[in-house]
Amino acid sequence: MSNNANTDTDTGVVYLVGSGPGDPSLLTVKAKQLLETADIILHDKLPGPAIIESIPESKREDVGKRAGGERTSQEYTNDRLVELAEAGKTVVRLKGGDPFVFGRGGEEMEHLAAAGVPFETVPGITSAIGGPGVAGIPVTHREHASSVSFVTGHEDPTKEGSAIDWEALAATGGTIVVLMGVGKLPAYTAELQDAGMDPETPIAVIERATRPSMQVAVGTLDTAVDVRDEAEIEPPAITIIGEVAATREHVSHWLEQTQHNRSELDTNEDI
Ligand code: SAH
Repeated sequence: MSNNANTDTDTGVVYLVGSGPGDPSLLTVKAKQLLETADIILHDKLPGPAIIESIPESKREDVGKRAGGERTSQEYTNDRLVELAEAGKTVVRLKGGDPFVFGRGGEEMEHLAAAGVPFETVPGITSAIGGPGVAGIPVTHREHASSVSFVTGHEDPTKEGSAIDWEALAATGGTIVVLMGVGKLPAYTAELQDAGMDPETPIAVIERATRPSMQVAVGTLDTAVDVRDEAEIEPPAITIIGEVAATREHVSHWLEQTQHNRSELDTNEDI
């Protein structure tokens, strides 16, 4: 290989890959192939241990939180992707769920394009749809919800100039799926009630969807905080707000069997 990193033939490719919500059998065929063939995989913790530990240690680089708890900066990750590609590597940037749902995939793609690095995007099952799905909650339903909104719960809803208009969301009558919303759950559930949403509106909180330790807690907008605390829900978790959250009740006897099968699968897997 020549040392001229500026010619197309020498530059590697970066694949922005979604891992799905954590169950390795929910990786796409393409994601699995790329994990097996890439020279190096940059990841954070979100894809979960089963997927991450299936990658040989020598081929993975953690660009999530560092040992001290400090987050690797986005600039570092952006630059590292370019550096590795320019060294001729086939690089996978592995992200939990789908790369473009609150995943900063957009920023990375723009950076790669600006740097002239070839890239390809590989969608994954987002936790925002697949998570509720495996818990028996359809994000839309002909009788209960004709729209769905995906929002970040990371922001303080009472903050001046908050980017999320909870009042408008309350008025849609559709499903609201909150990502990164464990900590601020008291604030946004209160905000929605202040905006006139019925306190009896069903909610569900799903932690580590599709992983063996998945937990689902259900309640109402009014009891959401108690529900979260009683179940000791920790991130990563999603909150589903809307009539569809009650669907789970009607199908729960079947879901238990599915969860059982999933755990069996996991114990049978060498991961
Ligand atoms: N790109 C990801 C979302 C990244 S933001 C996706 O498409 O799923 C991080 C948030 O995703 C977490 O705070 C949590 O709200 C959600 N999340 C990701 N994986 C999850 C899982 N397996 N179970 C529950 N929530 C999950």
